Amino acid sequence: MHWAYRIAEELIRKHPDRETFVCASGISPSGSIHIGNFREVVTTYFVVRALQHLDKKTRFIFSWDDFDRFRKVPKNVDPTFEQYIGMPYSEIPCPFGCHSSYAEHFEREFEQSLRDFGIVPDFIYQSKEYQSGRYQTQIVQALQNRKQVYDILMNFKTSEHSMEERERFYPINVYCEVCRKDTVNIHRFQDERLSYTCSCGHSNSIKVEEATNIKLNWKVDWPMRWQAEDVIFEPGGRDHSSATGSFNVSKEIASHIYNFQAPEYEPYDFISIKGSGEKMSSSSGNNITPGELLNIYTPEVILFMFAKYQPNAPFHIGLDDDVIRNYTEYERFSHAEKSQLKEEISAALELSSVTSVIRRVPKFSHVASILPLVNFDTSLVREVLERTGEAYTLKEVAGVCERAEYWLKNWCSEKVLKVNKDKDLHFYGLLDDIEKKWIEDFVRLLMSEIDIQDEELMRSVYDICHVDDSKLKKSNQKRLFSTIYQLVLNSNSGPRIPILIHSVGKERLISLLTF
Ligand SMILES: [Zn+2]
Repeated sequence: MHWAYRIAEELIRKHPDRETFVCASGISPSGSIHIGNFREVVTTYFVVRALQHLDKKTRFIFSWDDFDRFRKVPKNVDPTFEQYIGMPYSEIPCPFGCHSSYAEHFEREFEQSLRDFGIVPDFIYQSKEYQSGRYQTQIVQALQNRKQVYDILMNFKTSEHSMEERERFYPINVYCEVCRKDTVNIHRFQDERLSYTCSCGHSNSIKVEEATNIKLNWKVDWPMRWQAEDVIFEPGGRDHSSATGSFNVSKEIASHIYNFQAPEYEPYDFISIKGSGEKMSSSSGNNITPGELLNIYTPEVILFMFAKYQPNAPFHIGLDDDVIRNYTEYERFSHAEKSQLKEEISAALELSSVTSVIRRVPKFSHVASILPLVNFDTSLVREVLERTGEAYTLKEVAGVCERAEYWLKNWCSEKVLKVNKDKDLHFYGLLDDIEKKWIEDFVRLLMSEIDIQDEELMRSVYDICHVDDSKLKKSNQKRLFSTIYQLVLNSNSGPRIPILIHSVGKERLISLLTF
């Protein structure tokens, strides 16, 4: 059974009387949201789709933790933003001057990408919720039980704890009314009033019930939100999922402080981009966003990769030759008869569909091999495909061309094939007599007037180097092809021979291969 269905069925079994299945996800808008964080949303998304498929009513929420404090300036943000550290993301200016706040900039960027994937959760903006007073009761509850919260936190830590620290512990961040930073020192919580002094000099005593500048610490905020939204499922990253990680701590706080049972939890592992083994992090600013991946992959291919792997399996997304492999695999599965696919693959395909319309498009690998040979001209790609027996409209070809071109130019520019300007006399000089004879025969084949079809053409090409010994035959074919590619493209490999002929053109090929 596919993992999303396994989780969905488990939820239904545990909550037989439930009317609405609330499934949650959430991220801090600390910078551009990278593809590793995308797994947070997509894990919930697949479970929601599985529940809907099982005829359950769902609510899919996504909480933006934009009332969190700004901790670190990402690499792509002006270093002078250092001055805002300690303020909530929702109150910092947009680093690029195009949105009303820092939070909004990165929120809109990610929300747009989600729409491209057809993922449309209910967005909840924590800065608004906190300031609306909606969480006041739970904030008061956490403050009243602050020492018990401290004890729970300490149970998960090996570090020394002290009675003194316990006395001074408050599970909240308070944003100063004057400088808007959380650099406040809390003196007292008594009769539901909180008194504090900020490092800027401002001091105050406020009624917690009416305050709009208090935020619960993460490990209390999380269970508080589960309760507020009535969440029954939420995934969490590997860093939150260890024995002493946030989830287990929050689960204890849920049951001991807020008196309810934590939702079902599914840990998910990291994603890496192949070629860079580093764990990606939003605040480093050096990362791949879902938006960047969409320049290369279709939403379906990306979703399929996430659906295919169990959430607890780390995997990498290749931007190298894996792009061809990933597309080819997806194309093969999506064109196969459903009955011939494993149940899990078939469920993964269904969960990754973005529209119900099945688009008829050329293979990515074909387009990518033709494009550089026709100077990235989309209409020429369409013509070459037509001549090799595949007819598409320009529109059907254009989308694939756009992604293939972006990939070739930005991620493997050193490997982009170019047709040689002149004959490669030097390389020809290195060939032995057999190879020279093959090239001669190949040119003769090209010169034959008949417009032969692909398969027949390939058979004639194979005939050129034919021997009976099958092992030798294989090696001969490889040798013939690489000799042609070297003489035409200055590369050991290249597109299928019919594509090469139609892209480069017979006359030009003949001129490059006649010595
Ligand atoms: Zn202050």
